[in-house]
Amino acid sequence: MSRIRLLSETVASQVAAGEVVERPASVVKELVENSIDAGARKIDILIRRGGISLVRVIDDGCGMDRDDALLSLERHATSKIRSANDLAAIATLGFRGEALPSIASVSRFRLTTRESNAIAGTEIVVNGGKIDIVRDGGDAPGTQVEVRSLFYNLPARRKFLRSENTESRNIEHQLHLQAIGHWQIAFTLVRDVQIVFQLPAATNLRDRIRDLYGSDLLERLLDVNEDGRARPPGAPQISGFIGQVGLSRQTRAQQLVFVNGRAVESPVVAAALREGYHTALMKGQFPVTFLFLNLDPTFVDVNVHPTKREVRFRDPGGVHEAVVESIRQTLESGREDWEQKFRAPVPQIGGTTSVSSQISVPVVPRELPQLERDFALRGQRSVEVAPRAGATTAISSEVMGRDRPRPSSTPQQFQIIGVLNKLYVLMENADGLVLVDQHAAHERILFEELRRRMEEQGVPSQKLLLAQTFDLPPRDTEWVERNMSILQKMGIGIESFGANTFKIDSLPAFLKTSDPISFMQRVIDDLKSASNSSSALRLGEETIARTVCRHAVKANDPLGYLEVEKLVQDLLDCELPYCCPHGRPTMIQISLAELEKKFGRKV
Ligand code: ADP
Ligand code: MG
Repeated sequence: MSRIRLLSETVASQVAAGEVVERPASVVKELVENSIDAGARKIDILIRRGGISLVRVIDDGCGMDRDDALLSLERHATSKIRSANDLAAIATLGFRGEALPSIASVSRFRLTTRESNAIAGTEIVVNGGKIDIVRDGGDAPGTQVEVRSLFYNLPARRKFLRSENTESRNIEHQLHLQAIGHWQIAFTLVRDVQIVFQLPAATNLRDRIRDLYGSDLLERLLDVNEDGRARPPGAPQISGFIGQVGLSRQTRAQQLVFVNGRAVESPVVAAALREGYHTALMKGQFPVTFLFLNLDPTFVDVNVHPTKREVRFRDPGGVHEAVVESIRQTLESGREDWEQKFRAPVPQIGGTTSVSSQISVPVVPRELPQLERDFALRGQRSVEVAPRAGATTAISSEVMGRDRPRPSSTPQQFQIIGVLNKLYVLMENADGLVLVDQHAAHERILFEELRRRMEEQGVPSQKLLLAQTFDLPPRDTEWVERNMSILQKMGIGIESFGANTFKIDSLPAFLKTSDPISFMQRVIDDLKSASNSSSALRLGEETIARTVCRHAVKANDPLGYLEVEKLVQDLLDCELPYCCPHGRPTMIQISLAELEKKFGRKV
């Protein structure tokens, strides 16, 4: 007797459902995608008990006549493609003709639909894949699908469902993706008896982000604007918003990426985002993005994943490059905005001091404690702080022998108020109060300097009075030997001096340490743990440079006034001034508007 049998349609659908319908959120995804493909302007979603007991999606799309409605429940029935050729350039979200029959085979399913010009609509009830009722029905034009008791006939699958809360959150996330990807459409989500969100049709992405996430988030986003940039075929046009430096999350939940309108998880794009943000992201953090990639559909294959969550690019290299470039340029423009705040003259205190607005800082050499006195004096508004001629401009060129011209020709306008807790520089700029973390700022400055010098093949190093030797355990020895050339490139004069012994005879000039050996040991310890976690013995230059800079900076060093001022100026001259090489912020701006809000002067 033959042992191979053809599965019945119902069982085949249930098998297919195993791939398409993982959980209630997948039902929501498929139904909403169908509504979008049907041209809906408004989609209302209701879920009960995390979507396990009910998912209902109502749209005002094109609807179906009775024949189509019946056909839509057959496997491999779709209106979206006709031949295999069409697979090469898919413009709709769906195309496999599997979702409805799959969902209907694992639930109690009801479809009501009516075309706009039809006198009557159709209602179809399916239970566990079996059509039970077909009759006239459907009031408003459009389609309504109800999915009750998901997996009621597959107890094994039902067991895999998580708590109602978790399933609800998954659904919400899914709908956030759809709502951002299709901001022109109005969306409502009701969970049990509560409205979760009610989003009107938006006229642009910005409004939709505000409606969904609030204006606080929007204010921290940068517009990815590359209108009219010519790109080779196969490379995407990129638009949307990305988080400014300092805005990041511990998960990918707000790293939204859309390829031709479809929310995707793309390792290619994720890697490019990371590279684009570069040192602006802390380890283990993810950027916030609402990024839209549009490219010729023949250059992207969407038929590679059962739930179409992943895509394959024909030219992944081109996509990578385009995304990296676009992120870099956007962050750069964000920097311009920041700089703007330092270009406008600082509002004069009390309007009475006579410090010329051309001059950014009233520089009188003195130690910091005197700042307090100066501050008190200014409070009385009776003293004119005399600027010393020439003191404001080229403050920043000795220590490391900088010769790079400033990126901005306008002098940066800020006024140092004082230093808090020996660490935070308080200053005023046109926008309000700025807090600078001295330590993070110093790290950023050294890091950029070191990187630049390395590119130019010359970190100036300084000979130690006495060469020193130190021993390391064998494992560390191996590590140092492998990374020796990079360390040397950084101006650290280190070489082997016997089996497990090293000699060090010079250090980078910027490094002011009295104990080179303990400095090296701290750097090596740190780098070792980094190389353990990345399971590579050879670390990149960047990582090593970052670590060296971290240890080059000592916290809570009391700085003199001139030093503080120079620090701020050098920081503002950096490529990415607002975060340290490890991604922590270096500056926090508290705007006057924010202060007014906090003090209840303005609501
Ligand atoms: P696919 O979306 O891959 O074509 P589905 O099983 O999701 O497959 O849907 C089958 C067909 O049913 C679709 O091609 C479409 O023609 C029709 N359909 C499904 N949902 C709707 C809807 N909400 N409005 C109008 N037509 C729909
Ligand atoms: Mg579909």
